[in-house]
Amino acid sequence: MSMQAYRLFADGPRFDDVEEPTPQSGEVIIKIAGAGACHSDLHAIDYIANPKSFFTPPFTLGHENTGWVHAMGAGVTTLRIGEPVAIYGAWGCGTCSACVIGAESYCHHQATMRGGGLGFDGGMAAYMRVPAARYCIPLGDLEPRDAAPLSDAGLTPYHAIKRSLQLLTPDATVVVIGIGGLGHMAIQMLHTLCAARIIAVDVAADKLLLAAKLGADETLLAGDEVRERFFALTNKQRADVVLDFVGAQSTIDFGRRVVRPNGDLSIVGLGGGGLLFAQGKVPWGARVSTPFYGTINELREVIALAARGRIHAHVTRFALADAPKAYEAMREGTLEGRAVICPNGVEST
Ligand code: NAD
Ligand code: ZN
Ligand code: ZN
Repeated sequence: MSMQAYRLFADGPRFDDVEEPTPQSGEVIIKIAGAGACHSDLHAIDYIANPKSFFTPPFTLGHENTGWVHAMGAGVTTLRIGEPVAIYGAWGCGTCSACVIGAESYCHHQATMRGGGLGFDGGMAAYMRVPAARYCIPLGDLEPRDAAPLSDAGLTPYHAIKRSLQLLTPDATVVVIGIGGLGHMAIQMLHTLCAARIIAVDVAADKLLLAAKLGADETLLAGDEVRERFFALTNKQRADVVLDFVGAQSTIDFGRRVVRPNGDLSIVGLGGGGLLFAQGKVPWGARVSTPFYGTINELREVIALAARGRIHAHVTRFALADAPKAYEAMREGTLEGRAVICPNGVEST
């Protein structure tokens, strides 16, 4: 049987017919409920023709997935058919010291990023192959379509926040740059995990309104003199933690200038900006890092946070045929939160 898939080719994304996957030993086939459209897909689309692209096309897009267990290969015993799950998206070797603690995004044997929708076939099709049952995390009673963003737009900021949690004391200030898919989850997580003062920064006023609604204490429109406006707001105090969900040159420059000595600057966004990291170029003792995804257990924790009602992805559902419209809206900045592609129907069943 064949199915329609939204695939990235060397000359860009388009729909194509592919064979429905069948499970080999140890594999799980998921009937997709939701596949989130991530800004990383736009970077991949824009960069795919470059010989230095991480990925070898073609492959089906969608690396932020949820669905129902549809079929299981020999040896899979921990799941049941029909069970709703989120799919952990960073697939490592499974045996190195990072992978055995579930930190597969930091697999020691990974020459390049890989995962469904990131080089291998992802969730923008009715069915998706997952190579191991350990990547399928039960969703419980959460609505599977609306839970799709948890597996990346939820997991990635959660991981970045946890790395800095010891600095996020009640007298601390945290800056969140970019209130899109990842950033709108980050604000909610910070609001529930700590009592630090949250300052949200974005180029779009509507994104800042959302940030304020979700728990930001203050908001700042990016642009001219944003640094001066930041210091006016904080009475010249720097931030303990900066989470940059854009990673453009302007946001990295801003983060470097507002983070305090011994503070944390996490550059999560892949916006192509850079930083000269040396003595005298960043505040003394500042830790600059480039977190990537999170661990399998952290995905369980993110799902638990959602199940307890502490975080909620703002989602617009799209039919598979409308996947190009979802990416267009993301590029134009007209989405609130996340676009989720629903290949097996947009209505909850
Ligand atoms: P998005 O398009 O949903 O949101 C981006 C937000 O940033 C928007 O609200 C936009 O208005 C805002 N923005 C754009 N330029 C800005 C600027 N100069 N200053 C302030 N705000 C600005 O994107 P997303 O899906 O949330 O992804 C964010 C970034 O994170 C992307 O670069 C993506 O590739 C990257 N990402 C990284 C990881 C990782 O593991 N490191 C995982 C997922 C996504
Ligand atoms: Zn992503
Ligand atoms: Zn590994």
